[in-house]
Amino acid sequence: MTPIRLDGIDSYQPGDPPPDGYIEWHDWADVQRRAGLRQRQCEACRLWYYPQELSGETVRTGRVVCNPCGPKSHPVTPTHTEERS
Ligand SMILES: [Zn+2]
Repeated sequence: MTPIRLDGIDSYQPGDPPPDGYIEWHDWADVQRRAGLRQRQCEACRLWYYPQELSGETVRTGRVVCNPCGPKSHPVTPTHTEERS
């Protein structure tokens, strides 16, 4: 029996945002880990996340909070970027 492998592992780059699928996430995480990135523990849900999955807002304040936990304490508007002329 040959385990079914998606060929997506080569399509991920260190620093890429995490994919949605479970298997895809593990392939992605393997790329991140091999690139030297390390997971940090979210202070809210206590789960471990790679930097791309953590809220940049809260990381800057010193508290490590993941994206799902971040918006609760720091409301984020979808249109956060400002257009500058
Ligand atoms: Zn969290």
